[in-house]
Amino acid sequence: MTFKTRFAPSPTGPLHLGHAYSGLLAHDLAGAVGGECLLRIDDIDASRARAEWDAQLQDDLAWIGMSWPTPVRRQSDHLQAYNAALHHLWTRGLLYPCTCTRRDIAGAANAPQEGAQFGPDGIIYPGTCRPAVPPGGDMPQSALRLDMARALGTLYAQAMRPPLGFIEEGSGPDGQTGFIALDPNHLINNVGDVVLARVGMGGSYHLSVVIDDAVQGITHVVRGEDLFAATAIHVVLQRLLQLPTPIYHHHRLIRDEAGKRLAKRDDARAIATYREAGKSPSDIRKMVGL
Ligand code: GLU
Ligand code: ZN
Repeated sequence: MTFKTRFAPSPTGPLHLGHAYSGLLAHDLAGAVGGECLLRIDDIDASRARAEWDAQLQDDLAWIGMSWPTPVRRQSDHLQAYNAALHHLWTRGLLYPCTCTRRDIAGAANAPQEGAQFGPDGIIYPGTCRPAVPPGGDMPQSALRLDMARALGTLYAQAMRPPLGFIEEGSGPDGQTGFIALDPNHLINNVGDVVLARVGMGGSYHLSVVIDDAVQGITHVVRGEDLFAATAIHVVLQRLLQLPTPIYHHHRLIRDEAGKRLAKRDDARAIATYREAGKSPSDIRKMVGL
C-alpha cells in the first residue's frame, strides 16, 4: 500500500513545538517509506482563520525542513462538498436542527444531580432538540446534529457490515493500539449527537476532516493523541458516507515544564520565537525528541 499522509494545521495562531513535532513526524514517516506528506489548511472556522497565520505557518514549516506538493488544499475552497455530504445525511433522516446554546446544554446536562459528562465533541448532548421521528423537508440553515443512535441503527441494519473500528499504528492516550473496535453503546452514551454543521460554518471539523482525507486519498492519518477519541466519530461518518477508513497513527503530545499541553496562544513556544532567538531547525528537532 502506498503511504499518503497529511499535516493539517488551522491558521488560527502561531505554530508551536507541538505542531512542529506532529508535522515533522508525519513528514518523516512518509519519507521513510517513499510516501507523500501533504499540507492541508484546516480553515473551516472562518471566524478564527487568518491569511497572516496561513502564510506564517507555511514559512515556519518550510524552515523546519518540511516540503509538500502544491497547490495546498484549503477547506474554505470546498464548502460545497461539505454541504453536499450534509444534504445526503439530512435526506436519510440522520440529522436534526439544534438551537441550544452552550448554556442550555450545560444546564440540561446537569439537570438531575450528576455533573455534565464530556465526550470528544464537548459536553455530551442531552438530546433536548432530538426529534422522535426524523425531520423532513428542506435542510435548515441552523446548527445540525447527528442522531447517533439512528445513524448506528442504519449501519447495523446493513448486511455484510465489517466490524466498526479502525487500525491504530501509534497509540491512544491509554496506550490503545492495534484494531480499535467501537462499541455502539459507548458511541451513543459517551460520544452522543455531535454537531456536524454550525451556523456560519460550512460544516464541522469532524465532517470536513473526513471528506478531505477521503478526497485526498490519505492512507495514514498522523496526529496528536488528543484526537484519538474523536476518531470514533470520524469512523462513523466514513461508514455513513461510504468513505474508506485510513490507518491512524496518534502520537504523544508535547508538553511544557508543568506537563500542560501547548496551546496556540503559548507564544513562548512558538516556532517563530525560537527562530528569532537564533535556534536552528535541528535544535527544534532535538527539543521535540526527534
Ligand atoms: N486542524 C486540526 C487541528 O489542528 C487537524 C486535526 C487532524 O489532523 O485531523 O487539530
Ligand atoms: Zn438543541
